[in-house]
Amino acid sequence: MSLPSNLPINPDRLWASLAAMAEIGATAKGGSCRLALSDEDKAGRDLFVSWCEQAGCTVTVDRVGNVFARRPGSDPSLPPVVMGSHLDTQPTGGRFDGVFGVLAGLEVIRSLNDRGLATRHPVEVAVWTNEEGSRFSPPMMGSGVVTGVFALDEILDKIAQDGARLGDELVRTGYAGDAPIEHPMHAYLEAHIEQGPVLEVEEKEIGVVTGAQGQRWYEVTVTGVEAHAGPTPMRLRRDALVASARMVQAVQTLGLETPGDACTTVGILDVHPHSRNVIPGRVFFTVDLRHPDAATLAGMDRRFRDAVAAIAGEAGVTAEVADFWEFPPTPFDATLVNRVRDAAAGFGFSHRDIVSGAGHDAVYVAGKVPTAMVFIPCEDGISHNEVENISPADGARGAAVLFEALVATAGTV
Ligand SMILES: [Zn+2]
Repeated sequence: MSLPSNLPINPDRLWASLAAMAEIGATAKGGSCRLALSDEDKAGRDLFVSWCEQAGCTVTVDRVGNVFARRPGSDPSLPPVVMGSHLDTQPTGGRFDGVFGVLAGLEVIRSLNDRGLATRHPVEVAVWTNEEGSRFSPPMMGSGVVTGVFALDEILDKIAQDGARLGDELVRTGYAGDAPIEHPMHAYLEAHIEQGPVLEVEEKEIGVVTGAQGQRWYEVTVTGVEAHAGPTPMRLRRDALVASARMVQAVQTLGLETPGDACTTVGILDVHPHSRNVIPGRVFFTVDLRHPDAATLAGMDRRFRDAVAAIAGEAGVTAEVADFWEFPPTPFDATLVNRVRDAAAGFGFSHRDIVSGAGHDAVYVAGKVPTAMVFIPCEDGISHNEVENISPADGARGAAVLFEALVATAGTV
């Protein structure tokens, strides 16, 4: 659908800013490479800070390098309504993952300025440090420290794949700030590309994100008996790979049979001794179960364990299931989610409720502060890829919805 002419934001200015940011760390195939706290990440942050200062914002940097650009509100005693996302990318990243949420937030502030609109709450745009978790692990570090998921000192001592210490890289790039880690927020709104195909396939212009999926990760070790592939009759085998194959199938069936956006994945499988004429004696594989509802996810956990135990019994092998990591389902704030939905409807944009399958800074922030997200479609659902793409109209719609939800939350004078 064509774009309404009365949008509260400037689509051309937003698109030009996205293009200018993409020049920093541009890759041969049209993507971006700005690894966290690299020279390119510093250059991207510097450009963002200069734009914010031109827009009249006060910029502060906290001790883990998160950047906050503030436009004052009429009541300085009130905590800010914060928009934002991240500017770092994967090594072969796209031009929009994270960047869109940051620059859509800046576009909202520029548009408030254009209209001379004063808000009651201060309004901020946040750039969270190291969302991607590529150069430094784990991901979502900056938002994780601010929300108490990680301890500051532990994060400052993280070592990159290239041997650099995070705290030293903050100093080297000029982003070792002195603002305190505690950062009061009235609410948090993050715009982001969907990074999946649902909106495009269903021809929806806006995704109203109602929360994030819970995740449970496991490591499974199946042990049978290694034996010669010739002299060992089929009926006497205890083949760890054949049993594992049935378990992989059971994991897929679990995902297909569980209602309501279940996702189940086996991503790694190692076969021992990995020899073509030896019956495999040991197999290791990983399992990733996801669902937006905690009770359903707990039920998936039980069915998964039962299936593995039953198959192991039938196959005469043993199977050990180890918990590796888990993250609870995170529902977003109903009032804020309604504001996003109302904004999309108000502009006449086609929209649907959607659950985020990926991790985002908003997922950590939601643990402390009322939070919502706005998704826009991305071409073919592709992300974490140099060909990642959106249309200028998709970007404009997302920024317009962000503007309306922000104004409704920050209040006007
Ligand atoms: Zn992202």
